[in-house]
Amino acid sequence: MISIKGLYKQFGQLEVLKGINLEVKKGQVIVVIGPSGSGKTTMLRCLNVLETPTKGVISIEGQSLDFSKSVSKKSVASFRRLTGMVFQNYNLFPHKTALENVMEGPVIVKGEDKTAVRKKAQALLEKVGIGDKIDYYPAQLSGGQQQRVGIARALAMEPEVMLFDEPTSALDPELVGEVLKVMKDLALEGMTMIVVTHEMRFAREAADEVIFMDGGVVVERNKPEEIFTHPKEERTRKFLNMIQ
Ligand code: ADP
Repeated sequence: MISIKGLYKQFGQLEVLKGINLEVKKGQVIVVIGPSGSGKTTMLRCLNVLETPTKGVISIEGQSLDFSKSVSKKSVASFRRLTGMVFQNYNLFPHKTALENVMEGPVIVKGEDKTAVRKKAQALLEKVGIGDKIDYYPAQLSGGQQQRVGIARALAMEPEVMLFDEPTSALDPELVGEVLKVMKDLALEGMTMIVVTHEMRFAREAADEVIFMDGGVVVERNKPEEIFTHPKEERTRKFLNMIQ
């Protein structure tokens, strides 16, 4: 369903992604781990075209962008709709309520009917467990609640794939569980997900496969039980020893 071929990204002189190749099947949950600076976030942002890759081909559900050629704004806009992104710092509109945050995309970007979107947004906020706080502003919500609004907002666009960029790393420890629970439920529903996280328990419990990135490449990919107990590569072993 997702295919990344020969993906490179350079910031000035700094080459951050050095030829990423990755295939993901529909319904798979992929957890991406690796040291800080290894390019995990950049890869995710390239998939959402928040960063423009230097070269490489990305395909999702039959739509392709080849960054070796010039890509039109229109094709980027249409491609971007295939993925929903959940950010480390929630990125909610501070002057909009939870409900308005979730409604924004479908109404403004997709031009959907406001009454129908309101219903959908209410249902999504209930699904993530904050149906009773739909009229609250982000500042009136805890970090865990804000992040669940962030997840509902991404889901409201009905993406094919959900991308999570360290969704719990800004949270106080006691709030991490409620966000991971929503993510696990989504995984069980069959959502295709790519999750950059340091939560190894989530990786063990929810991932179909774990990808270890280092120095801008995918070093190793395997089922969680394999990669955590019998990593094949020395670099993976060293990283896991450091964090476990
Ligand atoms: P990770 O998510 O694995 O920690 P990142 O993808 O965030 O890694 O970053 C990889 C490298 O790219 C880092 O050295 C970072 O400083 C650099 N980088 C990321 N974004 C930018 C940017 N917009 N401009 C310049 N350098 C960047």
